[in-house]
Amino acid sequence: MSIPSIRRLSVKAVCLSAAVVTTVAVTAGVAWAAYTDNMYPTQYEQSGCFSESGPDGQVSCQTDNATLTYYMDGAGTNMLETEDRNVVISVMNTVYGPTDFSVSLDTSPEFSGSAETDIVYEESAVGMSESADGVTFCNNAASTLKCDQQYIRIRGGGHYVKGLTCHETGHAVGLLHGNKSSPMRSNTDEQLGCMETPTSDEEGLQANNIENINATY
Ligand SMILES: [Zn+2]
Repeated sequence: MSIPSIRRLSVKAVCLSAAVVTTVAVTAGVAWAAYTDNMYPTQYEQSGCFSESGPDGQVSCQTDNATLTYYMDGAGTNMLETEDRNVVISVMNTVYGPTDFSVSLDTSPEFSGSAETDIVYEESAVGMSESADGVTFCNNAASTLKCDQQYIRIRGGGHYVKGLTCHETGHAVGLLHGNKSSPMRSNTDEQLGCMETPTSDEEGLQANNIENINATY
């Protein structure tokens, strides 16, 4: 926006000040101000949140509330090694921690009932025909909108990095790719932060994702 157009707007605002105050009150905190609405559901993604026993590409659920608890598989074939755990803890503390989520590591995870640990990270084959390095699926839908427990599987061999962990965690809280966002954006749009595909290793949330999270939770 050029400086002259700002000046023109400010002159008009003198006449419309009463209406402007009303508009701000109604829209404050809503994602309409964001670059794009990439929080499920959008007009391009309304498939519903369902319970799945394994990954099938269904990633369309919000998490059930603003208290975001997570657990990392600590034994058996799907356990995360120390270096993978350190990446997840760092992403949750430094990338998701500053949002309106209340993020905490759940050392006594719940896998049943109505207050399950929200996100369970596993190191595992992704199990889909496409060559994805990570996948997110809802294990226990609370409604067609929200999931009580999401599983994130990321391949071994060094794939637990900041960008992909941020990306799959984004899906676990309802964030979508550019082609499901409204207005629709390119999947490679840089303003999608770590929800861009393919995902850069060092990418974080960036402003648009944070605005959508904070408007929703
Ligand atoms: Zn994705």
